[in-house]
Amino acid sequence: MAATETEKSITLTSALPPPHFVLVPLIGQGHTIPMVDLACLLVERGAIVSLVTTPVNAARLQGVADKARRAKLPLEIVELPFPPADDGLPPGSANVDNFLRLFLALYKLAGPLEAYVRALPRRPSCIISDSCNPWTAGVATSVGVPRLFFHVASCFYSLCKLKVATHGLLHDGNHDAHVVPGMPVRVEVTKNTWSSSYTTPEWEAFVEDAREGMRTADGAVLNTFLDLEEQFVACYQAALGKPVWALGPFFLNNRDEEAVAARGDKDKPSAVGQDAVTAWLDTMGQSAVTYVSFGSLVRMLPKQLYEVGHGLEDSGKPFLWVVKESETASPEAREWLQALEARTAGKGRVVRGWVSQLAILSHRAIGGFVTHCGWNSLLESVAHGVPVVTWPHFGDQFLNEQLVVEVLGVGVPVRGPAVTVAPVLRGHIARAVSELMGGGTVAQERRRKCKEYGERAHGAIAKGGSTHQNLTQLLQSFMPSGSTEQ
Ligand code: UDP
Repeated sequence: MAATETEKSITLTSALPPPHFVLVPLIGQGHTIPMVDLACLLVERGAIVSLVTTPVNAARLQGVADKARRAKLPLEIVELPFPPADDGLPPGSANVDNFLRLFLALYKLAGPLEAYVRALPRRPSCIISDSCNPWTAGVATSVGVPRLFFHVASCFYSLCKLKVATHGLLHDGNHDAHVVPGMPVRVEVTKNTWSSSYTTPEWEAFVEDAREGMRTADGAVLNTFLDLEEQFVACYQAALGKPVWALGPFFLNNRDEEAVAARGDKDKPSAVGQDAVTAWLDTMGQSAVTYVSFGSLVRMLPKQLYEVGHGLEDSGKPFLWVVKESETASPEAREWLQALEARTAGKGRVVRGWVSQLAILSHRAIGGFVTHCGWNSLLESVAHGVPVVTWPHFGDQFLNEQLVVEVLGVGVPVRGPAVTVAPVLRGHIARAVSELMGGGTVAQERRRKCKEYGERAHGAIAKGGSTHQNLTQLLQSFMPSGSTEQ
């Protein structure tokens, strides 16, 4: 039987290797995790992948490399020489000065990356680099290799960002809401909810370089899927004038437990252990538990922790709350959390340190997620059919909130309908969690929609789904010349 367009598998003439992608993630969990997922996705579809990073971060990815080796998959973690004083620079907090220091330090990798590519026996097919690594543009040009940028955000945000820049919005010190022109849906942005802290001349220069890196790239790769963001992908592609590859959700490819557990921060695992978390969830009812976590960067002060804890307690709903070790540095905070657990025994669980978020979100007991709206967390939640309470903190998170609440209809904004940066108090949390986990028709409809998006996410990665097809086309586009298809 002749293969259909979507079922075409890629085969190569015996003399030619498969396409080789060099992936250059940004250091930091929220950026590296999806790139590693993408690397696994590409090798499973027959490509060769080299993921380049600094020695400290390569050591953290040893498990990924070992697993690929055992599975005989051509995924290599490449260490580039980097001054030890600059290595291991994942931002320790949401402090933007730390981000800029990290971004600028990484420019020193341009020379080693170029040397690595030149030393390869064959020129790679394509470089895929994080949009925050604009220094890869010069390397790609110099070695004559096409380059795609990976934007870690939703397509909705990526498009808004481009439109805001194109139309020079938010540059005038005006704090009023601006409607973003050229969006397929009505979107308002204000200076407060945009990346407003990035205003120093050094930031401006970096942002301009990143923009130029995106402008001169050969296309974009996004961790999204068409059934979720088709209208924005089409518009982004038209606005960029180059291909936008929607290849997500990357993480749905992580089917075995080991791969799910291996994702993310090995340095700060929860002392409780994933098995104990799962065992506790096993005791809870179907979709009964609200999962609460704010990603890898957001750090709460003790007084904010107390508001979250009181809010969860006041909601009366079961919860699993992940707090960071650094948030519980003070004995008072630790004692307070212990007392909260004692008061909510059998209903509430507080876990300190890094957990496997994918394992939690895929557990049948999870029925809602209070999230900071990092794109990875939102996509992970929606792809598992889990609706969210949205509590954006900075960067793309406010726009991501608009996407899930207003466009997709699967979120409850913790601060209420108006987009603000107002402090979040216990009453906000109790109300939003009760609304999310409640039984009314609005809550049920939200759950139904989210479940449907979850099913569509799985459909997208299945053979014949939009992501599967896009991956096939990407691999074909970067096939070394002389290769054939059947
Ligand atoms: N994550 C995790 N365990 C944790 C905290 C976070 O596995 O204890 C993962 C989460 O699944 C997601 C990533 O870390 O893949 C966080 O990315 P996101 O974009 O949500 O937020 P950021 O950390 O960039 O603010």
